[in-house]
Amino acid sequence: MENNNQTDNKSGRGPIFNHYRSLTEALAMAMTKCIVWRETEKGTPVSAKQLFDFCQKYDAEHPLREEEFYMVSREGAIGISPGLEWLTRWMFIPMEPCKERDFAFRKMQEDIREELQEEQKTEAAPDLAPKFCTHCGAKLALNSRFCTSCGKPIDTK
Ligand SMILES: [Zn+2]
Repeated sequence: MENNNQTDNKSGRGPIFNHYRSLTEALAMAMTKCIVWRETEKGTPVSAKQLFDFCQKYDAEHPLREEEFYMVSREGAIGISPGLEWLTRWMFIPMEPCKERDFAFRKMQEDIREELQEEQKTEAAPDLAPKFCTHCGAKLALNSRFCTSCGKPIDTK
């Protein structure tokens, strides 16, 4: 731990990579640089939210050996190293800008929104009967400002 993230004071340069003792810690840093990754082996897109769940489970099931560490690249790639940086096996790499990434990002936003709504639902249980769009009659999501069916703004009165 003590040797992690040290800066080379003589040259004044910062570390190229950061070292972490858990995947969750590595993710916390990577999240400041990236929002959607690709799992390197299969190329599957992974959002920050999915990755967070994965990392917590992974940390619990895979304790690091003394010489091992996780790394985060400048771009936000996350890898595991057996002890030397150049031997790092990258587990997740930042996803290139594309429609698939936009989709994964939107999906994540929706999931978070839904979770928040679920929380609100349990907090204020009474008087939350489903509401319906006054324009097209579609059932409305809780607290939505626009109808997902016809796109018209919702009359909140
Ligand atoms: Zn509508």
